[in-house]
Amino acid sequence: MRITRINIWRVPLESHTAYNMAAGKKCETVETVVVRVETDAGIDGWGEACPIPHYLPAYAGGIAPAIENMAPVLIGSDPVGPEAVMDRLDAHLIGHPYAKSPIDIALWDITGKAAGLPLHALLGGRRVRDLPLYHSITCVAPDEMARIAQDVHAQGIRQFQVKLGADADWQADVERLSKVRAAVGDGPLVYGDWNCGASRLDAIRVGRAVSHLDIMLEQPCATLEECAAVKSATGLPMKIDECAHDTESLLKASRLQCMDAVAIKLSKMGGIGASRRARDLCLHLGAQMCIEDTWGSDIATAALLHLGAATDPRAVMNVCDLSGYVAPRLAPDGPERREGRIAPPEGPGLGVAPDPDRLGPPAAQYD
Ligand SMILES: [Mg+2]
Repeated sequence: MRITRINIWRVPLESHTAYNMAAGKKCETVETVVVRVETDAGIDGWGEACPIPHYLPAYAGGIAPAIENMAPVLIGSDPVGPEAVMDRLDAHLIGHPYAKSPIDIALWDITGKAAGLPLHALLGGRRVRDLPLYHSITCVAPDEMARIAQDVHAQGIRQFQVKLGADADWQADVERLSKVRAAVGDGPLVYGDWNCGASRLDAIRVGRAVSHLDIMLEQPCATLEECAAVKSATGLPMKIDECAHDTESLLKASRLQCMDAVAIKLSKMGGIGASRRARDLCLHLGAQMCIEDTWGSDIATAALLHLGAATDPRAVMNVCDLSGYVAPRLAPDGPERREGRIAPPEGPGLGVAPDPDRLGPPAAQYD
């Protein structure tokens, strides 16, 4: 089998809720990039990456030019066995994991379809029927955040990510965490995420003020050293996200003892293969994992669910139904949250394909 053509679509995804984060970051309408890799065997593979602006060293407009650069390596290659192809791409274009991620996902989709197996079978086998979801709560007034938490708790969600710092008011952040904690009762997981936007001092003040509560903190500051200092000063468990993006940074976070949990995002790592290697390292390092992606719709969601379902459930903290946060749904029959949980699609490969009407005409084509 040979790759014959690559198509790219750029689709705006509108968030149902505008996501306010620290340091003026906001996620509203974000462009997702959908990729179709065609072959001479009549099997197509789908991929997707959707970077959030001002979030990681990635932007949606950078994906198509990077794929154009990689296309001469891809066209004519055998797509079956994604890691061999990705090794050649890594030698050709250093870095750019977010642009490689949709290609890698498409190669896994083709490989699964060629084998007639769902991706979770190729990734080591399905360990669970479905996976626990978290719900991310936009940073607004504390009472409103508590109300949102109660609403999604009633829908079965038991893990709550509380966005902090949008108003640079550390006392309001204390109120946010305290009120969400009280709103969902004992038991559910509650964690406060600053997306790198807090000063070390503010994060420590917030953490100390809630240290009598069952709370985890997430990526308060921009460096691992600062996150480690916050953990050590507050005694609270710590999740790392933006600062953990490859083997070296995962090992450093572990050495600094600030990685109780970590976000494995497909496009941050460079696709399913790179995320699987990160997953295996985190199993060894003893970090609880959130397996997800930055943003996206049904293709990214299906890919992360296959990796999540093929991972030891004792190490999977949660996953994310990205497609539940945005419109349009690219594959209207894709997986949906049910009672706070979600299952990977059935069927060979990813098990989802976007509705052509929702994609419109491709923005670029390489052959
Ligand atoms: Mg985060």
